[in-house]
Amino acid sequence: MTEKVGAQLESNGRLKALMAAYFADLGEADAGGGPPVAWCTSVGPAELLRAMGFRVFFPENHGAMLGASRMAGATMAGAHALGYSQDICSYLTSDIGAFVAGVTPLTKAYGLARVPRPTILVYNTNQCREVKDWFSWYARTLGVPAVGVHSPRELDEVTDDAVASVASQFERVRDELAPLAPRPFRMETLLETIALSREASLLWGACLRAAAARPAPWTFFDHTIHMAPIVVLRGTREAVDYYRALRAELESLVASGACAVPGERFRVYWEGMPIWGQLKNLSGLFAGMRTALVASTYCNSWILDAQDPADPWRSLARAYLSIFICRSEAYKEAYIARLAKEFGAGGVLFHDSKTCPHNTNSRYGMPRRLREAEGLPVLVLEGDLNDPRCFALEESRVRIEVFLEQLEEARA
Ligand code: SF4
Repeated sequence: MTEKVGAQLESNGRLKALMAAYFADLGEADAGGGPPVAWCTSVGPAELLRAMGFRVFFPENHGAMLGASRMAGATMAGAHALGYSQDICSYLTSDIGAFVAGVTPLTKAYGLARVPRPTILVYNTNQCREVKDWFSWYARTLGVPAVGVHSPRELDEVTDDAVASVASQFERVRDELAPLAPRPFRMETLLETIALSREASLLWGACLRAAAARPAPWTFFDHTIHMAPIVVLRGTREAVDYYRALRAELESLVASGACAVPGERFRVYWEGMPIWGQLKNLSGLFAGMRTALVASTYCNSWILDAQDPADPWRSLARAYLSIFICRSEAYKEAYIARLAKEFGAGGVLFHDSKTCPHNTNSRYGMPRRLREAEGLPVLVLEGDLNDPRCFALEESRVRIEVFLEQLEEARA
């Protein structure tokens, strides 16, 4: 078996070009040379916006860029000064703070002078209430409408009642978009967009499943980078083509026995948000400990495969209600146990993300229950998606070492 150190994916170059084209398109639209821009939450109705001809920008993607570029630590203060608590979503605070300061990582990365200005803001509370508060600030500040879907959460089952409620809200959003949309709503276009979104979802799921191979050809740290198109370009042909090529590359890496972590010894499931400003440090740290993070809840969240052109509104509603973050504690626990097994993870690392209670699942006893029911060693790591004050690398290193010793014992 050959080993490919770091699995330097050839797709990295294609990803860079794809994202550059996406942001160039948004920049052009913002300058008045293209269709109007709609802002959308990361698990909002992007398919509907695309089908009606909007260019779509995702503030959470911008938030992640603020974290990864380590600008967030400086920009959050701008939102705190406006009265937004230091305890709430650091995507929200770092993004609003960046807007107030007039800075964006898009300038350095893609040459955009500013974040593309929205014509309308569209949110879905399937992930949290914070997105509504976040978009409401922009609605007040920029004087543009914010429209939303209010989803039931904590679902054990995605019931027909819940689906019917959200489906009718999607149709209401369509009507609210109509006066500002660059083209009228056509059902044929929505069906095509849904079909493309579903196909990209299935391909993304297949890409993630490649990490079930032993050794894993890529890990969570690669996933957090290559998930960008499924977030910002789902519903487009470009996303489908991208993931088809990525899947082919991963299949070929698996066939050749390539590994992302040389000498892979431990396999771990990552539960919770990435720590965006620490991806490089943590990737190096885990690689040094011969540990592959093979699966995560977070990156699996954009497998929206329940979409079905044969039943567009209801299937969109079902897809967006089925996501992990919208589900009950019992569902989540069973989901993590199943995925850990499928990916051969010997333990589960919970990231307690201080400013995101919704993507943190370690606070109501789940780690202990998983350990007792599944015999899986667990670790709860303190940190945050964007706030650098919440994470200590050296302290975390020690705790991860102890966790890996438990994995070693469990294996013995
Ligand atoms: S899910 Fe968490 S990180 Fe995402 S927008 Fe909501 S509070 Fe912020």
